[in-house]
Amino acid sequence: MIKTNFKRKKYRGRFAPSPSGELHFGSLLAAMASYTDARHNKGDWLLRIDDIDQARVINNSDKHILSTLEHCGFEWDESITYQSQYLEHYQEALERLNQTELTYPCTCSRKQIKEMSENMDIKNGIYPGTCRNKNKHNIPKNTYAIRLKVPVEQFSFNDHIQGDYSQNLAQDVGDFVVYRRDNVFSYQLSVVVDDFQSKISHIVRGYDLLDSTPKQMYLQQLLDYPKPQYAHIPLAVTQDNLKLSKLSHAKKVTGNLETLVLAAQFLGQKVPDSKDFDNKDDFWQYLVTYWDINKVPRMEKQIIMV
Ligand SMILES: [Zn+2]
Repeated sequence: MIKTNFKRKKYRGRFAPSPSGELHFGSLLAAMASYTDARHNKGDWLLRIDDIDQARVINNSDKHILSTLEHCGFEWDESITYQSQYLEHYQEALERLNQTELTYPCTCSRKQIKEMSENMDIKNGIYPGTCRNKNKHNIPKNTYAIRLKVPVEQFSFNDHIQGDYSQNLAQDVGDFVVYRRDNVFSYQLSVVVDDFQSKISHIVRGYDLLDSTPKQMYLQQLLDYPKPQYAHIPLAVTQDNLKLSKLSHAKKVTGNLETLVLAAQFLGQKVPDSKDFDNKDDFWQYLVTYWDINKVPRMEKQIIMV
C-alpha cells in the first residue's frame, strides 16, 4: 500500500515594514491582517525590516516601529531579520538569473524611457526593451541597471481577498529592473529571495503590491522557488484620496485599544466596542478567534478619517 504523506506545510506569515518613518495606520493594517491570519491558522508570524534601500532608511525608525508593534500587543516568532544583512543571498539569486541569459544592462534614464514609450505609443512607464542586446562588458560600472527579460505570457493567481488577478508581463509590465543603477538590489528581487529564505507560505499585504505579484511569481519560477499564497488588503486613504503613508501628518499609531478596534473594523471584522474589552490581550484573543479573511473588503481602497 502506498503511504501518503498528509503532513501539511506549516503556515508562515510575515510583516516587512521599511524603516523610513514611524508606524502609521496603513502599516498597522498590514501588520494586523498578516498577524491575525497567521495566528488564526495556527501559523508563525515573522518580522523583517526591509532596509535594502539604505538611502531611504531613517535612523532609529526600526526601533520606533518595533516598540509600537510591541505596544500594540503583537508577538512575533524567531529573531527579527534585516535585509541589509543578507546581501549575499540577493547576489546569489542575481547570479542565477544572469545564468539564464535573461538579464541585460540598461543605461536608459527614467526621462528617456518616458520619451521612448511616448514616441512608440507604449503604455506610460513600460520599458520598450531598448537595451535588450547591449553587452555589459563595454559599459562602465555604476552607469547601468540590470533588467530582466519578461515573456509574452499571462501570469494569473487567485488572491485570497481580491480574487482572480492576471497580468501579461510583456504587455502590462515590460522588462523590469532587478538591480538598480545605484547598486541596490530591486525590491522585487529582494522580497522574493527573503520570502523564500524564511519559508513564507502566506503573504498578506497592501493592495499597492497586487500588481507586483506577477513579477514576483515570474522570479519565483526562474529561481525555482515555491509560490506562496497571496492576499491583498485595501489601502487606507484620506477623503482627498491620499495614501496614508504619503502623508506627513498620517496618524501615528500609538497602540491604544481604540486604534486597534478601528483597524479591525476597517478590515471588515465585527468587533465589539473598545470599552467592551478588558485589555489588549482580550482584544487579540477575540480577533484571532473570530478572524474571517472573507470579510475583508474586496476593494482597492477605503476612506479613513485622520
Ligand atoms: Zn535601456
